[in-house]
Amino acid sequence: MPEQLPVSSTLSDAHSVAIIGAGLSGLACGHQLASQGVKVALFDKARGPGGRMSSKRRPSAALDLGAQAFTVRNERFANKVAEWQTAGCVAIWPTSRYQASASGWQTHNDDQLRYTGAPRMSAVTRHLADTLNALPNAAITLETHITAFDKTAAGWQLHDTNGSIHGPFDVVVISAPPPQAKALLAEWEPTLSAACEAKPQRGCWAGWVIFEKPLPPITQVAPAWHTVHTQHSVLRLASRNHTKPGREHQPESISLLAQLDWSDLHIESDGESVAQQLLEAFVSLLPNNTKLPNVIELGAHRWRYAQPAQAGQQAYLYSTSGLALCGDSFKGSRVEDAWLSGDELGKALLGRSV
Ligand SMILES: Cc1cc2nc3c(=O)[nH]c(=O)nc-3n(C[C@H](O)[C@H](O)[C@H](O)COP(=O)(O)OP(=O)(O)OC[C@H]3O[C@@H](n4cnc5c(N)ncnc54)[C@H](O)[C@@H]3O)c2cc1C
Repeated sequence: MPEQLPVSSTLSDAHSVAIIGAGLSGLACGHQLASQGVKVALFDKARGPGGRMSSKRRPSAALDLGAQAFTVRNERFANKVAEWQTAGCVAIWPTSRYQASASGWQTHNDDQLRYTGAPRMSAVTRHLADTLNALPNAAITLETHITAFDKTAAGWQLHDTNGSIHGPFDVVVISAPPPQAKALLAEWEPTLSAACEAKPQRGCWAGWVIFEKPLPPITQVAPAWHTVHTQHSVLRLASRNHTKPGREHQPESISLLAQLDWSDLHIESDGESVAQQLLEAFVSLLPNNTKLPNVIELGAHRWRYAQPAQAGQQAYLYSTSGLALCGDSFKGSRVEDAWLSGDELGKALLGRSV
């Protein structure tokens, strides 16, 4: 089990916490702490919150480049997702899944209910960021890349790439993927740093293509198919963004997720050639005589740390020095794991049971 914190009892409104990373786990942890009066400051190096739940917004279409959809197993997460549905940032994405193989396309449906952000995946984390920012004791600072810590008599200070110093804070939570967290921790906390070392990550290329017109129908496949899984050596999943709730009026746009083995081998390749190879892999799944509409836009995003090589066993970790770790890798590899990890760490810091 994680060790106890140095703070005499547990965190209260007298304490302040810095959270590095405004992905789902960092935001969940921030919400839990801020709701109990703790002063919370989140920092993210990106232009927007969301991390691996980010979406790319193009003039004509919104493309999910990280998580495509998510499932719900845990009861507390189910309650949270119901709140998000009421807030209008999450909707059910009815299942129309296929598996493509040498013998053609077969339906690949299961009993899982799948949810997605509405009108794009990043709407979930945007909603969490907005509601957190609205609290008087919480703030999110974007485009701020934290590169180092510093322990002073008053608490932890954070240094960013612009030379600014933030803090002091009683506790620092790192919600970045373990290799990035490890780099920050190495000097201060060998135990947590070793825990990050033990969580290698797989990379993943995520391509996107926007077409001028809808794809032609495929024989014996539902015209409104949503995803196709494949054993192709390059492509693992094609997912149609415009079939997701709130995007029905957008042009045909498809996210193309590469196989993890292929991504690991090609992680240093250039995005243009990766995008081309992902599109060619997708086209190879279509019947030979398929006439493709014109491509308006084609691109690819590299996720250097897309998912853990192995599922985690503890939801979070913290040490007596006031440094803590959360993120999907500590619990599993999915959206639900990220939320549970951040939420459970927040509760542990407050001395509350899950
Ligand atoms: C291609 C892909 C497809 C996926 N598909 C699914 C799916 O279908 N279903 C599902 O359930 N899950 C899926 N996932 C997994 C899901 O996206 C993650 O589990 C979840 O988003 C992780 O959230 P997190 O908060 O733990 O980490 P992240 O979202 O990675 O958040 C970490 C944040 O830390 C920030 N950061 C890092 N270092 C620093 C620093 N030094 N200073 C400041 N900020 C920093 C980053 O910018 C980032 O915003 C997918 C992931 C990928 C990449």
